[in-house]
Amino acid sequence: MSDQPVALFRLGDKGAAVRSIRSLLLATGDLAPSSIETSDIYDEEVAEAVRAFQQRRGLIVDGVLGPHTHIAMDGAHWRLGDRILSHIPGHMLQGDDVAELQERLLSLGFTPDRVDGVFGTNTEQAVRRFQSGVGLAVDGSVGPQTLRAFADLTRSVSGGSPHTLREEELVKTSGHRLLGRIVVLDPGHGGGDAGTVVHGLTESEVTLDLARRIEGRLSAIGVTVLFTRSATSGPEDLLRAKMANEAHADIMLSLHCDSIDQSRASGVATFFWGLERFGAWSAVGEHLANLIQREIVSRTGLADCRSHPRGWQLLQRTQMPTVRIETGYLSHPEDAAKLADPAFLDTLAEAIVIALQRMYLGEDDTNATGVLRLGDLGAYNAKQRASAE
Ligand SMILES: [Zn+2]
Repeated sequence: MSDQPVALFRLGDKGAAVRSIRSLLLATGDLAPSSIETSDIYDEEVAEAVRAFQQRRGLIVDGVLGPHTHIAMDGAHWRLGDRILSHIPGHMLQGDDVAELQERLLSLGFTPDRVDGVFGTNTEQAVRRFQSGVGLAVDGSVGPQTLRAFADLTRSVSGGSPHTLREEELVKTSGHRLLGRIVVLDPGHGGGDAGTVVHGLTESEVTLDLARRIEGRLSAIGVTVLFTRSATSGPEDLLRAKMANEAHADIMLSLHCDSIDQSRASGVATFFWGLERFGAWSAVGEHLANLIQREIVSRTGLADCRSHPRGWQLLQRTQMPTVRIETGYLSHPEDAAKLADPAFLDTLAEAIVIALQRMYLGEDDTNATGVLRLGDLGAYNAKQRASAE
């Protein structure tokens, strides 16, 4: 995967900041309380606790406290109700309490866009709609009264996944054809970042080559294709997500090649947005990731490393279903030989385009969906009014 986060704290570092990292890890339960909890050394125990946290959150597991891990860890100790939540432009609140709030909004049918733990404009609007729906003062911030209304209402929704319900509806209303869609292709790395360089191959070049082959095929069937980078640029993931959001893309595909220190690992894997801890994920992302995985495995013979939910920034911050594809291991001699062959890249491109077509044809529509009883809101309103009199 070879996305290197900017290292802030790592093994051997010393200082007051390390002490606060220790207390964050205590709060997340990854570091056991011990006599040396006030130590200011980033020792192996801290690195191990950071790795355990990263593993749980679907972050890159390296034991290094970079910005992504720091943001996730900082937000992890908040529980819904600990603080008043509201949208602060320029300094958006982040944390597990925000994710929990978004989860509840979704389960009640007030879409905050997605459960990403960031209190942005969409979440504020969802809170306002909720407040207006249950007859509370509409201020867009979540204090005791709004929390009480949640507690009363959440019980009445059961079963299935509200995410599935919402996202499938989106695909349905946008029609069953690829014609006229906007697909953003994101060739990994680029600019000063070549990605993995091994076996005579450079990841940033392979991903761009593959993207161009996909582009040719998609353009031919009337799809508008946009790239997140050129042959010479390599923007940050956050910027790539922003570009796709501003383009109002229907789908984003991020292309990478995997690599690992030992040469035996091989195969293709796909990733979609999801946080298993909250039972929150992109249902359409998962569906598309599965379709792409299946097509690539059956057409190329690459080993099947399956589809997985991840909380990665690019997957988190994009507002459309986004799938990251790790198309084989450059570190594996046979995978690398395949990826060096233009005909193989054509087959890969073909498989990905077929998977997109399958999704829009809606061929298997079997996801379980929850039942939201809209009457519950009305009943709640009436009860509130009655008790106020
Ligand atoms: Zn990569």
